[in-house]
Amino acid sequence: MGRLVIVSNRVSVPKKGAQAGGLAVALKESLERHGGLWFGWSGEVAEDRVPPPKSMTQRGITYVTTDLTRQDYEEFYNGFSNSTLWPLFHFRLGLLEVSRKSYEGYLRVNAAFAAALAPMLRPDDVVWVHDYHLIPLGDELRRLGVTNRMGFFLHTPFPVPELLVALPGHRRLVRAMCAYDLVGFQTRDDVRAFLGYVAGEISGDVGENGHFSAFGRYAKTEAYPIGIDTNAFAELAEVQADAPETQQLIDSLQGRQLILGVERLDYSKGLPHRFDAIECLLECHPEFSRAFEFMQIAAPSREDVARYRALKRQLESAAGRINGRFAEFDWQPVRYINKGYDRASLAGFYRAASVGLVTPLRDGMNLVAKEYVAAQQADNPGVLVLSRFAGSARELTSALIVNPFDVNEVADALAKALTMPRGERVERWRAMMKVIEANTVETWRDAFLSDLTEGMSSEFEDEIHADEEGVGLEAPSLPLAPVAQPPGLLR
Ligand code: UDP
Repeated sequence: MGRLVIVSNRVSVPKKGAQAGGLAVALKESLERHGGLWFGWSGEVAEDRVPPPKSMTQRGITYVTTDLTRQDYEEFYNGFSNSTLWPLFHFRLGLLEVSRKSYEGYLRVNAAFAAALAPMLRPDDVVWVHDYHLIPLGDELRRLGVTNRMGFFLHTPFPVPELLVALPGHRRLVRAMCAYDLVGFQTRDDVRAFLGYVAGEISGDVGENGHFSAFGRYAKTEAYPIGIDTNAFAELAEVQADAPETQQLIDSLQGRQLILGVERLDYSKGLPHRFDAIECLLECHPEFSRAFEFMQIAAPSREDVARYRALKRQLESAAGRINGRFAEFDWQPVRYINKGYDRASLAGFYRAASVGLVTPLRDGMNLVAKEYVAAQQADNPGVLVLSRFAGSARELTSALIVNPFDVNEVADALAKALTMPRGERVERWRAMMKVIEANTVETWRDAFLSDLTEGMSSEFEDEIHADEEGVGLEAPSLPLAPVAQPPGLLR
């Protein structure tokens, strides 16, 4: 293949002192190998006019980022992406916000991204577009005459057709997905939902092995469950076990077991239900009073969206309620932390936790579940309590799998986790570790790219098109202003 071109909402532009996560490292490895371009939003909102895209090249990878206008930010990002597609794709019709203005903004930004990207593409480039913000991008590129091999990967779940049809413009969205040569999802359930729509709503043809045709195009869909950089994360956790911060956390527990939750503060993560489950554990199993502490790290996310601000207030109130009810002068059950931590700190915290509590109401994959497993000590691992509605539950079947809506069931699973004998913990952990060692972020990337480039002429295979000179942009190579990178690279 020629160069690899990655397009995602956010771009992991190298920054001094910043640690890239597993996904960014894996994508960059591929970009370096093939010589590549990574294009997306800078994270900046231009108050008046959007300046020309900024470009920088490092280690054979050219990063090109563009700002959004305030209107684009409201309509494309906060609006259609995060207030329409996000709730819909997480099966939350009750939270769906429908606005024609935000839909138009979504299409407008995708068209503008395509117009900016198209002149940079070379005939043999392979284009890989990521996630729900950019579904129409491929279709927009096709309209501009781009015939390159193009793949799309959705990091979120894909809703069943009965839910998807609640979206005005659902047909156009799926038509846009058919503009790609390969459409990747996290799980087979998502593939089934997509093909269900293709066959049932638009009378497309669904063939063998994920091949389908619709809207005059022939393409393939497949499940590629994303993994983590398992060994690197395990090594980091081992190092972090002795870090002062981790030791401080352990000392502060005074011998009590730690139940740990880590996520962006997002309603898909099931945090209010989880807090209820902790309350239920204390009510139904009073023997655990003083035996554990529940620490919830909830990294701020999308604070410009009202729904997220409301959730924050709800959790503050739940934490206060539970502590008010059950705390003693020298112990409180809930530590609620409304800030994000870096990868190294989290690795140490996971390792210190007896229980990893991961209970989303719906989640594409959930990398925290895999990171928790990778971080454990082989001869004395903790227990993962995992929602059946996380994509990772399809692989981590040796976790204690729960229905997050059933707070009694979650409380019972916590009681079981807190008292699980070491032999059973080791056995369950080994089974999960085997899975995440076999399916890493690298195997995920390679499987997707291999399917995307399958059958392509191999004449370019050995050519590395590392372009140190830029990509034909008029804008000079500028050092980029630092941009706050939220946890969850692409969101
Ligand atoms: N994360 C982080 N700091 C935090 C909270 C989360 O770096 O304070 C990272 C976490 O380690 C994981 C990612 O953010 O790699 C979250 O991915 P996941 O798939 O669990 O959920 P998402 O946020 O993408 O919905």
